[in-house]
Amino acid sequence: MTLQELRSQALACTRCQLAGGRTQVVFGVGDPHAALMLVGEGPGQQEDLQGEPFVGRSGQLLDKLLHQELGIDRSRCYIANVVKCRPPGNRDPLPAEIEACRPFLDAQLRLVHPAVVVTLGNFASRLLLGRSEGITKLRGRAYRFGDAHLVPTYHPAAALRGGGEVVAGMRADLVRAKRLLAAFAP
Ligand code: SF4
Repeated sequence: MTLQELRSQALACTRCQLAGGRTQVVFGVGDPHAALMLVGEGPGQQEDLQGEPFVGRSGQLLDKLLHQELGIDRSRCYIANVVKCRPPGNRDPLPAEIEACRPFLDAQLRLVHPAVVVTLGNFASRLLLGRSEGITKLRGRAYRFGDAHLVPTYHPAAALRGGGEVVAGMRADLVRAKRLLAAFAP
């Protein structure tokens, strides 16, 4: 199974009710051999229209922070979401939807095989760490994640709402990811 084959499967997927409201499936983008993989929550309106994760204001902030803290642009990472189809009205994804979509994310993680995973926000962080705490408790450190390292941080949409302190937290987390990349994916 290649990422391309997996993408083809996702584009035809109707495993959960989110299939009914999507414009298109937002599978994931970036370097299929990236050392850094970013995992968000799910597509918003712009992502649903354009078919790419993090293309609205949140995406612009993410791109800026990647550039300023890691010196890279998004083409050097792989970016995916927990659910690949937009929840209506940008509501939170439901547990059944997350469960239905999880095999796609697990397969993306296996195929890309990053050295460092950065989870953006509550849903991705809780799911991949198997924890129930919120992002404010989970962030601030790195976790072992199989043979990779996982750095939880805020979702950029929360940083847009939360202002300077949240953005500063995201910056610190990205610096943590950068150090791990230097140590484990030089
Ligand atoms: Fe399939 Fe995932 Fe879309 Fe649900 S969210 S229809 S499981 S691709």
